[in-house]
Formats: sequence, structure tokens, C-alpha cells
Amino acid sequence: MATKILVVEDEPAVREMICFVLKQTGYETLEAEDAEGGRACLSQETPSLILMDWMLPGTSGVELTRELKQDKLTRDIPVIMLTARGEEDDKVRGLECGAEDYVTKPFSPRELIARIKVVLRRVAPHATEEAVEAGGLRLDPASYRVSVQGSEVDLGPTEFRLLHFFMTHRDKVYSRSRLLDTVWGTNVFIEERTVDVHIRRLRKALEPFGVESLVQTVRGAGYRFSEQASGR
Ligand code: CA
Repeated sequence: MATKILVVEDEPAVREMICFVLKQTGYETLEAEDAEGGRACLSQETPSLILMDWMLPGTSGVELTRELKQDKLTRDIPVIMLTARGEEDDKVRGLECGAEDYVTKPFSPRELIARIKVVLRRVAPHATEEAVEAGGLRLDPASYRVSVQGSEVDLGPTEFRLLHFFMTHRDKVYSRSRLLDTVWGTNVFIEERTVDVHIRRLRKALEPFGVESLVQTVRGAGYRFSEQASGR
């Protein structure tokens, strides 16, 4: 899957420059010029990362980030804040609102890409560089891609981590709380229902390739990844 990055930036020239650099690096881009556009985009798409301008007209990038980090559907998406020089004193506030990192403008394309890679790697704690294959799926943590016979599967960051965990822990049943602990991390407090939301998204992404049945529901117990037909 091509990693999708949402760029929320009100200055068209800066936005275009960033998107150009991202596309050149092989990322897919989504664009929004303000908080409203960002929200609209996120209701349709789950990008792997958000580049968020600090100063946006109306709702600021900081406020929008805080909002996204309180919503269980968007809280897993890492945010890198783009701040202008002189706003550095506020950068702590930027991280306090939940952003994973910040980059000060003007930045070089190389610096931006390096930061993005670090953050993407950090949010995938299960990631080792080793590619895994199972049930016709190939998951490559190094390139952050999942494919079925060469066709890329489009996955959000949580679905990617979930699938990576499953593919490296086949044929065992995991309860929702166990999945939360291992895939989301032990220090988070999230409702178990969130697991179901991401399982649904994962299956939906696998559906076009006819491999969604690899992710099996085990009634009363949890979920399992298996190449064998689902049984009880
Ligand atoms: Ca701005």
C-alpha cells in the first residue's frame, strides 16, 4: 500500500511544495486548507500520518490535533506539527496536544522526510524489517506495504499493526484486551469495542482481494488469524 499522508496547510505554495516532496518520495497525499477540510477528509480516509500546520485560519492546528487525539477513530494517526520560526516556545504545547513531533519552517525536504520516517516507524512497534508472508498476503515492515500477488492493500496505521501482529502470531485466539495490550500498548486506555472497529476496517481492506476470511471471529473469545477455514 502506498502510505497516505494528509497535509493540512492553508498556504497553497507551502502545501504544494510539501505534497510535491511527499509524492516524489512515493507517498500518496491528501490535502486540506483548514480544520474543516481536514475533518471532512478524515471522515472518508485513514491516512498513515498527518502534517499539521500550527497556524490555520479558524480552528488552529493545535486545536484540531487535540480534537483528533480525543477521537478513538483518529487518535492512532500520528501528527507532525509544522511550526513557523518564532513559534518554537509553543512547541511544547504542540506536543502537549498530542502531536508526535514538530518540524520548524523553513525545513528542507530531506529533514521533513526523515522525521516522517522516524514517526511512522515509532507508531509500528511490532515492526521489524523482516517481511512476513501468510495466506497469500505479504507484509513488508521496511517499506510499510502490504500486498496480495503484487497488488497493494490500502491499510491505516492501526490496521497495519494489527495485521502484522496477526501474521506473526498465526492460528491463536487473542481476546480484545490482549490485542489492546500488544497492538495498542499497555499504557493506553481504550474501549475494547475499538478493536472491533479496526478489525472491521482490516477486513474491509482485505475484501477486494478475497482474503478477509483470514481474520476470524471466535465467538466469546476474540479474534484469530488463520489460513484454515473458520471453525469453533
Ligand atoms: Ca499557516
